Amino acid sequence: MPTKKPATPAPRRRAAKAEPPAPAPRSASRPLPKAVQAVRARKTLPRAVGAAVIEEIFARFQRIEPEPKGELEHVNPFTLLVAVVLSAQATDAGVNKATRPLFKVADTPQKMLALGEETVRDYIKTIGLYKTKAKNVVELSRQLIERFGGEVPPDRDALVTLPGVGRKTANVVLNMAFGQETMAVDTHIFRVSNRLRLAPGKTPEQVEEGLEKRVPKAYRLHSHHWLILHGRYICKALRPECERCPVADLCTSGDKRI
Ligand code: SF4
Repeated sequence: MPTKKPATPAPRRRAAKAEPPAPAPRSASRPLPKAVQAVRARKTLPRAVGAAVIEEIFARFQRIEPEPKGELEHVNPFTLLVAVVLSAQATDAGVNKATRPLFKVADTPQKMLALGEETVRDYIKTIGLYKTKAKNVVELSRQLIERFGGEVPPDRDALVTLPGVGRKTANVVLNMAFGQETMAVDTHIFRVSNRLRLAPGKTPEQVEEGLEKRVPKAYRLHSHHWLILHGRYICKALRPECERCPVADLCTSGDKRI
């Protein structure tokens, strides 16, 4: 799908960003996850594992799940973008429950804008931060129409100018809707990449950069899904299920809770 040039200059309205900077700096009232605290407390980062180990880890993930899919339900790039914006600090299951009826009546920016903020709010009120998110979803719909001809731009720099869209959200959309080899580093990928020493890093950006450098080309498109699934269901934050981990013999994480 070609990039539409930002038409003009439509006056931009302000809307608060809803995406959490996870696992980036937070307010004092919200403590960082233990895994992030542990990684940041280290004086030096461990070295990444070698290329052969990385190759073997992804080869195993691929054998187990050749075509991993994201769990957020959507019917087109626009509904994917909305679902990802709504998923900040919410579970995919909770977002899907709210978006099923919403997307039946509003699967385009035009329909979402016509629905209006209050009605969108009613559809998504079971999701955390729903007021801010409703505002962002309607405003991003307006901006897609005014600046991008009603299409989701396949371009990170353009996507992050939309309300509620940060780098992680943009990376998910670029990967799932446009097949770009992006690494959307969320809390699971951050933890797994550090535990397995695929791309040790103290910030999501460092981990993203490391993964981009080290994940072999053949695995790049699906790598962020494999890492999310591994972190969500096996290499969990508090009680990683190492006994059934398919890459346990390649994991050198002495403290499985970092
Ligand atoms: S062995 Fe345990 S800590 Fe290491 S990757 Fe597997 S689940 Fe995670």
